[in-house]
Amino acid sequence: MKTHVKALVVGGGAVGTSIAYHLAKAGWQDVMLLERDELTSGSTWHAAGLLPLFNMSYATTHIHKYSVDFYKTLEEETGLNAGFAVVGNLRMAQTQERMDEYMLYASTAETCDVPYVFLTPEEIKDRWPLIRTEDLKGALYHHTDGYINPADVTMAMAKGARQRGVMIERKWQADAFHWTGDAWEVTATRMVEKGGNLVPSEEQIVITAEHVVTASGNHAQRTARMLGIKMPAIPVEHQFIVMDQDPELVEFRKDHPEHPVIRDADAQSYVREERGGWILGVYEKNAPARFEYGVPDSFRADLFQLDLDRIEEQYMAMNHRMPSAENCGLKDDFNGPICYTPDGNPLVGPAPGLRNMWLAEGFSFGITAAGGTGHYLAQMMVEGEAEIDMASLDPKRYGDWMTTEFAARKNEECYDHVYILHHPDEERPACRPLRTAPAYDRQKALGAQFGFVNGWERPNYYGPLDAPDNFDHDSRSFRRGGWWRYAVEEARAVREGVGLIDATAFTKHVVKGPGATAFLDWFTCNRLPGVGRINLTYALTAAGTTRTEYTIVRLGQDEYYLVSAGAWTAYDADFLRKAAEDKMGEFGYIEIQDVTSQWGVLAIAGPKSRDVLNEIVRDADPATVLGNKRFPWLSMRNIELGMCPVRAIRVAYTGELGWELHHPIEMQNYLWDHLMAAGAKHGMKLVGARAQNWLRQEKSYRAFGTELGRDATPLEADLPRFVDLSKAFHGKAEMQAKGIRSTCVTLLIDGPGDADPWGREALYHGDKRVGRLTSGGYSVVFEKSIGMGYVSPELAVPGTRLKVRMLDQLWDAEIVEDSPYDPKNEGIRKDA
Ligand SMILES: Cc1cc2nc3c(=O)[nH]c(=O)nc-3n(C[C@H](O)[C@H](O)[C@H](O)COP(=O)(O)OP(=O)(O)OC[C@H]3O[C@@H](n4cnc5c(N)ncnc54)[C@H](O)[C@@H]3O)c2cc1C
Repeated sequence: MKTHVKALVVGGGAVGTSIAYHLAKAGWQDVMLLERDELTSGSTWHAAGLLPLFNMSYATTHIHKYSVDFYKTLEEETGLNAGFAVVGNLRMAQTQERMDEYMLYASTAETCDVPYVFLTPEEIKDRWPLIRTEDLKGALYHHTDGYINPADVTMAMAKGARQRGVMIERKWQADAFHWTGDAWEVTATRMVEKGGNLVPSEEQIVITAEHVVTASGNHAQRTARMLGIKMPAIPVEHQFIVMDQDPELVEFRKDHPEHPVIRDADAQSYVREERGGWILGVYEKNAPARFEYGVPDSFRADLFQLDLDRIEEQYMAMNHRMPSAENCGLKDDFNGPICYTPDGNPLVGPAPGLRNMWLAEGFSFGITAAGGTGHYLAQMMVEGEAEIDMASLDPKRYGDWMTTEFAARKNEECYDHVYILHHPDEERPACRPLRTAPAYDRQKALGAQFGFVNGWERPNYYGPLDAPDNFDHDSRSFRRGGWWRYAVEEARAVREGVGLIDATAFTKHVVKGPGATAFLDWFTCNRLPGVGRINLTYALTAAGTTRTEYTIVRLGQDEYYLVSAGAWTAYDADFLRKAAEDKMGEFGYIEIQDVTSQWGVLAIAGPKSRDVLNEIVRDADPATVLGNKRFPWLSMRNIELGMCPVRAIRVAYTGELGWELHHPIEMQNYLWDHLMAAGAKHGMKLVGARAQNWLRQEKSYRAFGTELGRDATPLEADLPRFVDLSKAFHGKAEMQAKGIRSTCVTLLIDGPGDADPWGREALYHGDKRVGRLTSGGYSVVFEKSIGMGYVSPELAVPGTRLKVRMLDQLWDAEIVEDSPYDPKNEGIRKDA
């Protein structure tokens, strides 16, 4: 057995096998896969093999689509038939709201080139008369997916991998990982059978690997402990049952093709054919998390006891939907561990704090995702970046605050939520509140309805003071929800008066030391600000695309305060720290501190914001202290608001006159009360994140995670004013080499009147699809829908008429100039 390899993949389920295959396909030699037992002996062997082609996420849909296309090619390549039944997938809706959801699904599908059609109940009945349709509103049907045999597809990938030189070693368990500085030493133990258990033997070897990928499925918690990191990948029980033959189905099939996979989301179940009978899979309530502290030796390719009581409701619902199933006996059952994460997306990408350690863990749709994960992860490892933005799958989207208890309870919730209505304004309740800024109770008492941002509670909007507990839940919609009018009032208050926004969740880092200036100059693409000044800038990936957006405040000659998006603290910290470590030898000592939890942020914005601050500013003459001369736009000053020392930053993400008031977190309530008292005289309104998101679109401010990400360069985001081409910076040559593949634009949209886009919709020019929205909302200034997105560069001209597909119809839209509201920034620059 080889002991020096380029890449070592740990885990021989569908995911690990695909990664090994794709690394070899991408040209890496000396790829080895270790499997502690037999290939597929984890969750893979008992999966139902469904391949749902798309979901709400753009990145995941790309991953699933790649898999489906790739699996179709495997037989030709390997000679092994993976049992891919391309029977299609029928998502049925019992309510109009579910149809609305499918129309939003269809938007994502369309932008990822996944074909679909909508069917009426009559059309469904015509094609599949065994399905009861009188209580259906319709269905979304996509004919190119279906189901596959999970073990067979894994074996086909394993054969393909071996053909490309991958070494697959079974009965070897990775037991320890040691980083030498330029390679991993992985201690592997030979596993042996003992009394039906699989146990470690005395035989061990050390394998030196340049890169390691872990794809350890249900063993993720053990893997995390060995690596010294936290991973929120914990399995939950998942059941499906197999029914005896259904005579009516057998009869029907004599002259008809197989049924598509039938998803009755409102009944939390999926059904597919299996040898003349049906398989019923369910996402029921109260499925427990398992293996929170590791998988026992006694659990191998095993299953849990079936819990029929738990799935009775869904079983009855199947009999309602497929009446012919009612008299079929139960032939077989499966209750296996299915790995989950709190948001349902797997953890794919670089491990936090570690070099050349890649995670591919936490897969709940691992058969569907395996192919695409292998493809895109191999791109990241071999080329430095994937062609799609993998941030939504990055393992570092959870920070140090994440615990085992949080992961287990959230994963149970995520499982339970698989088939709920996935409103884009959904907020899930489990494990909350967890991270609260001091003013949380005050905000709650004032009607705040909170969103969950990286564990933090952040007001989304302020509803009525006497709102019942389920107010926010009942306000959700695929159209304009019950919260919409509150956000409209908040947005207007900022444009016309003054609003106060809690932005405490922002990520904040201090970068200082003798090497800090040269480092940041290299690390980011805009010129660095002078002392006391601020710049907006971007750190790029090695591929020249946007890795992180920073507001950089220069506190001193070699001391900087970096503010970035709230959802991405660990993601940003890891990138920054690793880059600084790499460059310290060249630039000198650089100290990096994550000060996110030390600083609260309250942002005040609107034409009257200076008037409010003037009431309480105490360190200098209020008549001049906040005037343009002493405190110009894009500058920072330490001021005192009453007794609170404040690092005030004159920027406003809303595009109005405003300041971000960064303050010691323990003084937040003092500052809050003080601001509220001063603001009352000026009609100050509390404003949540939803209104802010609309306001920033009126100013064409790109947001990280939507317009800004690892699939576009800052030049494609049309931000040349923040890119200093006269200097050298990380990713510059790659950014320039990419050219402009598509361009970010702002659009005003004449939509349906009861709905705004969510930022997933396709854009058309005539009958040609030319781009997609990445953000959407409502403009209080223009009194119509607004959106931002990417289109072919030649169309990115103000005045171009496009169409947006929303709710399955095309609506007029026009590309407008950048910053359609106050393009000259007169409001922001307004003097005292
Ligand atoms: C009942 C049920 C039905 C399902 N149906 C579907 C479906 O229809 N479609 C779908 O897409 N998904 C489905 N799933 C989910 C799917 O099974 C998983 O997402 C998928 O199998 C995960 O693959 P994996 O490779 O990540 O993990 P696994 O298949 O669990 O593989 C991990 C492997 O790593 C090995 N390993 C762990 N630690 C070590 C170590 N230290 N050293 C060496 N080897 C190690 C394990 O032995 C194991 O073989 C279903 C799951 C269940 C329970």
